[in-house]
Amino acid sequence: MPELPEVQAHAERLTKSYAGSRLARFQPLTFTALKTAVPPPDQALGHPLEHVGRRGKYLLLEFAPLTFVVHLMQGGRLKEDEKQSAKPRGGQARWRFDDGRALLLTEAGTERKAGVWCMEPAVLLTSPPLDSLGPEAMDVTAEQLAAVFAEHPMRLHGFLRDQHCIAGLGRRLANEVCHRAKLSPFASTGKLGADGAERVVAAIHDAVEEGLIYERTRAGMSSSADRPGGVHKRTGEACPVCGDTIREVEYSSYTVHYCPTCQTAGKVLADNTTSRFLK
Ligand SMILES: [Zn+2]
Repeated sequence: MPELPEVQAHAERLTKSYAGSRLARFQPLTFTALKTAVPPPDQALGHPLEHVGRRGKYLLLEFAPLTFVVHLMQGGRLKEDEKQSAKPRGGQARWRFDDGRALLLTEAGTERKAGVWCMEPAVLLTSPPLDSLGPEAMDVTAEQLAAVFAEHPMRLHGFLRDQHCIAGLGRRLANEVCHRAKLSPFASTGKLGADGAERVVAAIHDAVEEGLIYERTRAGMSSSADRPGGVHKRTGEACPVCGDTIREVEYSSYTVHYCPTCQTAGKVLADNTTSRFLK
């Protein structure tokens, strides 16, 4: 799944290519693609795309009368639609501009979870789906994070993935942040305190920055195998910090990757989530 760095760099690319182009037509290509009934998307017709922004993992296509909120979910992509065929493969929605170009939202697979919400700018951040997001991962301060930790006592890895706690991170960055912070993915957020919050904020900012630097060198969104990192999906490889072997553990239907020496004082985490080893 694209996470904050991938979505942010993509928003920047789209702004560069499409800002100023006027919307000629918006076309949902499936019955489920458009998640809102009002305002009607046609309110944006004739208006230029002002900017493509981001909140959490959502892309924001900003026109003066309304903003299209786009969530790519697992296999979604928003790209130049070169063919503009009547029934594009995996097509979910299309924005056609008066300069002849078009943007196409596609989703691989059959899950059909990617979607588009039309929102009036004044209520954008106070209505679903954006109203329930936690603070932005790039901007959150240690004080804010400590407060959210106290509000949501849970395992750190689950916390980092939960968009209501903090917005923009997914499985990959949750693994990388725990590793950089030298904390167990199963550490309890309720016990991390101010020091823990500071370590986690520094780790979030470093991991996101690393991803952004890489992603901004690319012409299009990376695939997950290309993204930089130390532990995510590197089971069996050597930890870049200490040389120990990266391990994996199953946790609430996810595979979590970690370095025992860096993160758990050498302890190997057990799959059973009720295990006494999960500290
Ligand atoms: Zn290590």
